[in-house]
Amino acid sequence: MDLGLLSGQLPQLSWEQIESNAQAAFLGVALGDALGATTEFMTPHEIKSKYGVHKKMIGGGWLRLSPGEVTDDTEMSIHMARAVIDVDGWDLTSVADYFVKWMQKRPKDIGATCARGLRTYIHKGTTQMPYNEWDAGNGAVMRIVPVAIYTLGDQARLNAYATQQAHITHHHTLSDAACIAVGSMVQAAILGASIAQLRTLAEDLIRRHPKFSFEPYNGHSSAYVVDTIKTVFHHLFNSNDFESCLVGVVNQGGDADTTGAIAGMIAGPLYGGPAFPKAWCKRLDRDVSREVQHLAQMLVRRSPMAHRSTQPCT
Ligand code: MN
Ligand code: MN
Repeated sequence: MDLGLLSGQLPQLSWEQIESNAQAAFLGVALGDALGATTEFMTPHEIKSKYGVHKKMIGGGWLRLSPGEVTDDTEMSIHMARAVIDVDGWDLTSVADYFVKWMQKRPKDIGATCARGLRTYIHKGTTQMPYNEWDAGNGAVMRIVPVAIYTLGDQARLNAYATQQAHITHHHTLSDAACIAVGSMVQAAILGASIAQLRTLAEDLIRRHPKFSFEPYNGHSSAYVVDTIKTVFHHLFNSNDFESCLVGVVNQGGDADTTGAIAGMIAGPLYGGPAFPKAWCKRLDRDVSREVQHLAQMLVRRSPMAHRSTQPCT
């Protein structure tokens, strides 16, 4: 996976536009998570008979959430971002400490692989789980947005940090590949890539790991990272606005909050914050909304791109 595939083809965005797109990526995670949590673990058929088409920020779901409440996908992303801002740098121990701090607050939901990795960190102090063929869940890629924003403009750093943070809990080739691919797509979208250019990056992942091929789409939306990414790609590349992309993934059910979060982090900067449905933004937990936008701004101002930009806004 290489953003270099698009080198010289991306538009020249203003720094203000780049910052706004970074905020749209992080806000996209929260919106997709909150929308999708309602239909998590449901089948498309169950969703259809209960809601017709689920497209309102109404909470509920198996976690009995308030409207606009987010889950572990957004919470882990926020804690990783805080870790980077608070120590003003990339420190894996600090990231693991912030994840543990979050787990100790007894979140409503935490993935089994995440909990196991964090317990191992508590007991052994290791931030790198050994390779495990059962670690191909989506828990590492769902929280990739702070890494994508913080390493904006530096592919090598993105690849390194994406896999390091993944291995705190998940160590698997397909999870690593998904983290790097989605991180690259988020960066490209923040830098103004078109949907066709994002597709070039998706095709590159599929060339390296044919399991991610999403055509024909089989309709499976599980926590297996391959099913998750295929669901996101199918709806991302068969829709033409933020709302229909997110409505598409969350009505697929399964791991709907996570497919929502991942679709949101790519479609957010692709279509831009002004394209977000106002009703969703109004319903989204206000503290979360404020914090993700603040963190996105802090992260992008510390990115390699900020140092390179002609108008760094620090
Ligand atoms: Mn979740
Ligand atoms: Mn989930």
